[in-house]
Amino acid sequence: MTDINHKVTDIEKENTTWWYIPPEVGAIHELPQGQPNTRHDLPWQAFAVVGDKHDPDTWKLPHHTRGINKAIKGKIGIEHTVDWERMPAAVAALSPGGHQGHRVEASEGEIISAARHLANHYRKADKSLPDALAVLI
Ligand SMILES: [Zn+2]
Repeated sequence: MTDINHKVTDIEKENTTWWYIPPEVGAIHELPQGQPNTRHDLPWQAFAVVGDKHDPDTWKLPHHTRGINKAIKGKIGIEHTVDWERMPAAVAALSPGGHQGHRVEASEGEIISAARHLANHYRKADKSLPDALAVLI
């Protein structure tokens, strides 16, 4: 997986670090009738880094479950849709050391606002803030 030009196989797709989504893997659907695009069946609200709401390629660090679609419709609270299993990797990806050596590609400003976004979830869930986030915000 170190060869950047390596063609990604289906098995490797499953094993790919979840937040690193090579362009050829990202399932991007243009929905009819002006509905928002999705990436991995998630709307932009599920991502901590959103460069452009209309360009799913710029969405990074998904950390909500698909339940977020219900939250957007106001049926459940958004904090109930936080995917806590993904959270530690999202936090690590923002830190200078990165997640498994990969830091998310984002501007310094995007990283800080993503860190604040994730920190808010920790606060609202009454969870203690990871050091990696605390130093960024
Ligand atoms: Zn969030």
